[in-house]
Amino acid sequence: MDKYDVIVIGGGPSGAACALSLMRHHNKSVLLLERSDFTQQRIGEQVSHSIFDFVDYLGLSPEDFGADCFVPNYGKISYWGSDIASSHHSLFTAQGQTYQLDRAVFDETLLMTVVERGGTIIPRCKQIKVAQQGSVWQVQLSHPAQGDLDFQSDYLIDASGRQSKLGGELGIERTVTDQLVGVGAFIHHPQRVFEQQQRIESCEYGWWYMAGLSKELAVVTCFTDVDLMKEMKLNRQAIWNTHLAKTKAIAPYLQGSHSTQARLWVKQANSQYYSSAFPERFVAVGDAVASFDPVSSMGIGFAMSSACHGAHALISAEEGVVQYYQNDIQRIFDEYCEIKDRIYQKEQRWVGLPFWQRRALFASLERSVVNV
Ligand SMILES: Cc1cc2nc3c(=O)[nH]c(=O)nc-3n(C[C@H](O)[C@H](O)[C@H](O)COP(=O)(O)OP(=O)(O)OC[C@H]3O[C@@H](n4cnc5c(N)ncnc54)[C@H](O)[C@@H]3O)c2cc1C
Repeated sequence: MDKYDVIVIGGGPSGAACALSLMRHHNKSVLLLERSDFTQQRIGEQVSHSIFDFVDYLGLSPEDFGADCFVPNYGKISYWGSDIASSHHSLFTAQGQTYQLDRAVFDETLLMTVVERGGTIIPRCKQIKVAQQGSVWQVQLSHPAQGDLDFQSDYLIDASGRQSKLGGELGIERTVTDQLVGVGAFIHHPQRVFEQQQRIESCEYGWWYMAGLSKELAVVTCFTDVDLMKEMKLNRQAIWNTHLAKTKAIAPYLQGSHSTQARLWVKQANSQYYSSAFPERFVAVGDAVASFDPVSSMGIGFAMSSACHGAHALISAEEGVVQYYQNDIQRIFDEYCEIKDRIYQKEQRWVGLPFWQRRALFASLERSVVNV
């Protein structure tokens, strides 16, 4: 049976960043197990300039990702809290420059670097089962080409994203504040040149988002609560189109374009975090440890920062460092909730309607614990 210092479950940005951090800064052998074959379209592309600090920490430079991976963003146009558009240029805001990330190139470059530096990646892993025996993690899985596989490691990392089941299996509590989902499509326009700009518009049942990904491709997403999505049938293309057509900031911009996929995608986009102590020799990172409403644009930056911090805490010889890491996650989540509440409270036109009522004053303090 093959033994590694660390097994990482999940090959998104946080899993890849964990692997790179462990190899570069701690000289650990790493096995990364991924459920998919890496061909799925990745969602989430808006990042702040702090991404370059993490890229540097992992021993990479922006040039390693090619010329078009980080495209400077012009800023955003929003209809939020008012019928009048407001425009924020990235250069003139306190947050500084933001970037549109080419997710396929970004994720692939991180993963290729893991392999180049001696890490092992196995895609298409199914039915991953983990158990801790003494100080050793036993990991079993089923692989379509290689059959049943068994591995051992000293440490285990959960980087399997927002829908991670691993924490629940290990008895870790998860606290959730809402049931936000994103219903979206990638939109192609053969003649149009989409600007590197975000368009955001609130509405009675949530908010719409559009971002140009490349000259001809944009992503359009409707964010609402899962019960409202079902009630309004917003996951049906014709109904989604009808509501999109009513937007002021987005619809006029999409005339003549078409969806690149046969079906809309639906992604969980709610806020949640692991809120009870981890088992020994284990950490969770990225969306698995805490995930955020995309209105905050925090996901990928946090995925990278928590990966670097979590990996360091995990193998630190010092007592209590993993608990400090978890305390830090709790602090980040609390601060994020205050920011999120302030953003939602700027919209007062529909305070009596369910989506906005649920986001009224101090709404994020109402948290429910699951996985117990
Ligand atoms: C609609 C939407 C829009 C977003 N927009 C933005 C944005 O503009 N900016 C931003 O910063 N963030 C955004 N985000 C958030 C961002 O996508 C995530 O924060 C980021 O992808 C988290 O990275 P991760 O590696 O932790 O998780 P993921 O990217 O989810 O990666 C997890 C990986 O684990 C794999 N996996 C899952 N289960 C298993 C298993 N059992 N075994 C093995 N592998 C498994 C998955 O296949 C996946 O490859 C958005 C999210 C949504 C839903």
